Amino acid sequence: MATSIDKVGVIGAGQMGTGIALVCAQAGLNVLLNDVSEERVHAALATVNGSLSRQIAKGQLDEAGRQATLDRIGVAAGYDDLAQCDLVIEAASESEDVKRKIFANLRTFLKPETIVASNTSSISITRLASVTAHPERFIGIHFMNPVPRMQLVELIRGIATTDETFESAKAFVAKLGKTATMSEDFPAFIVNRILLPMINEAIYTLYEGVGSVESIDTAMRLGANHPMGPLQLADFIGLDTCLSVMQVLHEGLADSKYRPCPLLVKYVEAGWLGRKTQRGFYDYRGEKPVPTR
Ligand code: NAD
Repeated sequence: MATSIDKVGVIGAGQMGTGIALVCAQAGLNVLLNDVSEERVHAALATVNGSLSRQIAKGQLDEAGRQATLDRIGVAAGYDDLAQCDLVIEAASESEDVKRKIFANLRTFLKPETIVASNTSSISITRLASVTAHPERFIGIHFMNPVPRMQLVELIRGIATTDETFESAKAFVAKLGKTATMSEDFPAFIVNRILLPMINEAIYTLYEGVGSVESIDTAMRLGANHPMGPLQLADFIGLDTCLSVMQVLHEGLADSKYRPCPLLVKYVEAGWLGRKTQRGFYDYRGEKPVPTR
């Protein structure tokens, strides 16, 4: 039987974990948020509050709605606080090592029927599931960024994922008012398998001097009708996440067409990770974003 999801744990309170917590709470689910430090969780709660204020300013929410949403999000200081969750979604940094450690520790704290999910953009769900005691109750639930605005959620079944787990995840996505698509478990799934090589190619275009940051982004916005230029989008995703996805594609499919652009590597090595660090292909420290090349 499919598990009804009412209580959700979220591990990793960065841009994705914060968005996931917000949409779950606004759909009436109870959420517990965990990160490496409680400070990060409190920063995430402040971001949630900021989003709710913007909804109030637009007349989409009232004060009582804000309070009810905030009341549904709590802090999980440790995994033992997640024991009663029906679903735990991991949205920590895109590193297989980090994720493996989380999954190897987590399961013993949970009730047996809890479903465990990863929001990974690219890492094999089957491989991540293999470090858990119950790979049959493990699934990829891949939200898009920004979570509150994007309609799609990709569901990825690992080799052992049962129909019950898949149906529970599908019902959970429907509860959030979002649309689920199903992807097979191959590197980067569907959206990022197509999107990230396009972004990487835009970075090569910059690296080879074919165009400046501004010309590349303008060309794709006005010439291909993309709502954002690819370099602006890369900054939005996070350049560390972009690089990790390209590395997973390159290693996982062993095809040189996926080699990460050296300029992307250089930006990540500099710690210029895009919006989250205030600098990437654009510098966000002033009033208006300024191209860095
Ligand atoms: P982020 O850097 O904003 O946040 C990652 C968070 O994970 C940080 O707060 C960090 O402190 C925390 N973290 C690291 N190790 C942890 C641990 N052991 N336990 C608990 N928390 C830990 O990254 P993000 O953009 O939110 O990405 C998170 C995940 O979502 C990644 O797997 C990424 O691939 C995926 N994702 C990202 C996007 C995107 O556009 N950024 C889209 C879809 C999916």
